[in-house]
Amino acid sequence: MRLIIMGPPGAGKGTQAKFIAEHFGIPAISTGDIFRRNVSEGTPLGVEAKRFMDAGEYVPDEVTNKMVRNRIEEDDAGPGFLLDGYPRTLAQVEELDGMIRGTGHQLDAVVVLTVDQDEIVNRLLQRAQVEGRTDDTEDVIRRRQELYTEQTEPLIGVYRDRGLLVEIDGMGEVDEVTRRVFKALDVVPES
Ligand code: ADP
Repeated sequence: MRLIIMGPPGAGKGTQAKFIAEHFGIPAISTGDIFRRNVSEGTPLGVEAKRFMDAGEYVPDEVTNKMVRNRIEEDDAGPGFLLDGYPRTLAQVEELDGMIRGTGHQLDAVVVLTVDQDEIVNRLLQRAQVEGRTDDTEDVIRRRQELYTEQTEPLIGVYRDRGLLVEIDGMGEVDEVTRRVFKALDVVPES
């Protein structure tokens, strides 16, 4: 099973990604989490990524692509994976196509969580207090939303044209959203 979960910053991708990945027994691969781990460990990748992340900018494609390629070549991703936060640009879509083709598999579905923009800013500001993410300030959130609209939203049309898109209303309780996702993917949720 090879899946992507998309949606604007704060749509709840990471939360839903965990449930979906668990159901299919595949790793949830979050590029944001991998970058944050590298930042906290002070690796060269982390040092490079931090400059962009703190400004709400995308990390350059070459850096991100290489990181994802290495990650999906790991053993646990053999049976498949769920990507959260990647691809985010058209160039990343092409790169991912090549990576998946190289393994002789194909993408199964792209889940898109749709949410209300105002609600999102509130969620993110709340998360900033709980998790202390340095990119959850109002200005940076707005920049991330802007970039999403400019660079990432167009990917929805690409995947729709390929017949892979599964659009889900991301508003409401976490459980409710999970039920919608499972229903749309035609799977029975575990209790
Ligand atoms: P969110 O979706 O809430 O904005 P993420 O945790 O997915 O946050 O990503 C945090 C930051 O990591 C992004 O704002 C960006 O700087 C960087 N990042 C994550 N994934 C990518 C990607 N695919 N391409 C470029 N930058 C990325």
